[in-house]
Formats: sequence, structure tokens, C-alpha cells
Amino acid sequence: MRLRYYRWTLLGLAPLLLAVLVLAAPSFRFAGYAPTHPALSADTLRPRSSETEAFTKAEALGAAVPGYLSSWGLPPVQGRIVLTDTGLVFHPSRGNKPSRATTVSLAYVDDENGRAHYLFRLDTGVFETDTPGPLLNAAATSRWTGGLGTLAASGSSVNLTDSAASLTAARSMAASPYADSLYALFGRPRAQVGLIGMRGREAGRLGEYILKRDSLALDPARMTGEAQLRHALAHELGHRWQARAKAQLATLWSGVRSIRDPKRYGYGNLSEHQAEAIAFAISFLQTTATREEVPSGALALLDHYDLLVPGTRTMVRHFALQPPYRNHPLRSKLTSGRITYALEK
Ligand SMILES: [Zn+2]
Repeated sequence: MRLRYYRWTLLGLAPLLLAVLVLAAPSFRFAGYAPTHPALSADTLRPRSSETEAFTKAEALGAAVPGYLSSWGLPPVQGRIVLTDTGLVFHPSRGNKPSRATTVSLAYVDDENGRAHYLFRLDTGVFETDTPGPLLNAAATSRWTGGLGTLAASGSSVNLTDSAASLTAARSMAASPYADSLYALFGRPRAQVGLIGMRGREAGRLGEYILKRDSLALDPARMTGEAQLRHALAHELGHRWQARAKAQLATLWSGVRSIRDPKRYGYGNLSEHQAEAIAFAISFLQTTATREEVPSGALALLDHYDLLVPGTRTMVRHFALQPPYRNHPLRSKLTSGRITYALEK
């Protein structure tokens, strides 16, 4: 069983390698997470309000819109988008450096939990907010600004031309304490982790789990960084568990709604949707494992994960009951009879 993963990852290649690949294999598909022509997005809905109001860029400059950014299909990060005269700049609430986008369009409005959540498509991801403000107008102008590079990713952490370095990166991730907690949940593949073969690369895969051989392959050289490598490992091991716990997963999954965003990986594909929910759930449990996290804020974050990949909450509740998360600070909150939606309040 070969499982496709991230069709859009070729967008993350360094230009040099990209050029080499284009020469070598002109049939590669460069389907990306972000539309090639954001202004022409077929799924762009009309903004709900203030569309007819006169909008000048000057009025919106410096405005900050709070929300959650999901880059490269990865779980959302809380922060705010500031509109500047050179583009849109996302400032994460903690940790990472700001990232920049030059295009924005409104993808859709989700009324989950009785409240409107606006989903905007940016260059390499989606931004979700309850209070879009000037972002609605920026999206309506179809292109906020131009002339800047559009890639927001931090770039691969591995030398692209060095497959030995790539293999080392894959194997050190597979030997990390992070991987150990995944093995405790999903079991450890029989074969040692390897690199994606030529055919998998041609298909744009970043990770593969082959059930027959119980083997897992990754392609760190084409990832945007460590977060994507961790995500890919959880996703592929999720496939391993999926194949071995079909009945259990089917029971857990009952009532989970479909992915709403047609550009989200896993849309319209139950197996991939579940693997994404598994990887999102692991990311959530790891992100909130430190005790500094305020419980109410952490539960609100889970709502935002679940909004992009429904089923994440279900998976989090299940994993929180398993031994690796025995001492997780949110364990009792996550596994009590009912989790109220923080977004409802
Ligand atoms: Zn998959």
C-alpha cells in the first residue's frame, strides 16, 4: 500500500533543485497548496460585510488581525497578521520568526459552533480568524501587493543535494524521543526508516508507509523544516496504526465531519484525512505538553486544529488516555466526559 502525501510539496523546493527536476522530468505535477493564481480562486466566496465600502490601502496600513496561520498544511499557529505597505506579515504569538505573504483571498466562511470563522488563503497556507476586519477588503482587492518573494517557508533544513544528509536527518528523527512516543502509540515499523524512492519523489510524496513491508520512508530534503518532518513521521505512523486498528478507528471516528477546505490535504479521502487528524492530534499534545500553557488557551487552540482537520479533537482525546501522555497537563480536561467548545463562549 502506497500512500500519497503532500502533492504540493514540490513548491517548497529550492529554485536550483526545482530547475533540475523540471529538466529531468517535465511531467511533474506542481499542484500546490496555494493556488497558482490566488486572484482567480474558484472557491472564493463574497465577503459578508463592508465589501461596498470605499477601501483605501492607507486606512488599513498597520492594522493587526488576530487569528491562526496554517502554513504548508501544518497545524495552525496563533498570531496576528499585520497589513504593511510591502505585504502581509504574520507574527506568531511565540517562537518562530514572522513570515510574509503577498496574496490573500477569502476561501470560505465556516459557521461551525454557531460562529463565523473566516478562512483566508495566503501564498502558502490558510489564515483563520473570527475578526477579519481590513483583511476582507484586502482580499477583495485580490492582490494586496506585489514585487516581493512569496515563499514564507523557512527553507529545507537539509542540504538538498546530499542524500546521505537526508537519510541522517530521517534516521535521527526516527531515533528521537519524539518518535519513541509515536512508537508507543502506533508500534514501530519492522524495517529501518529509509528515503523515498524515485517513483515516490516523482509522485511528489514526502512520506510513505508501505504496509506489506512494514516500512516507512521520508524525504527530509524536500521538507520546509523540522516541523514538517515531525508531521510526516506522525502521519505515516498513523497509517500503520490505521491498518492495524481498523475497527477501533472506525468506532472513534463516528460523527466526525469531513474536511471543509478542498485544498487541505486529506480532503475527500478518508484514509488521508484520518492520518492528518492523527498527525494534528500529536502536534497538539506535543505543543501543549509544557505546563506553562494556560488550559483555557490550549483548549481554544484545539478548536482551531479541529476546524481545519475535523477529527483532531477525537484523536487527541483518545491519545491522551494512552501511556505516553500519562502526565500531560491537560489529560484530565481532555478526557473528562465532555469538552466544551471554547469557541462557543
Ligand atoms: Zn498519507
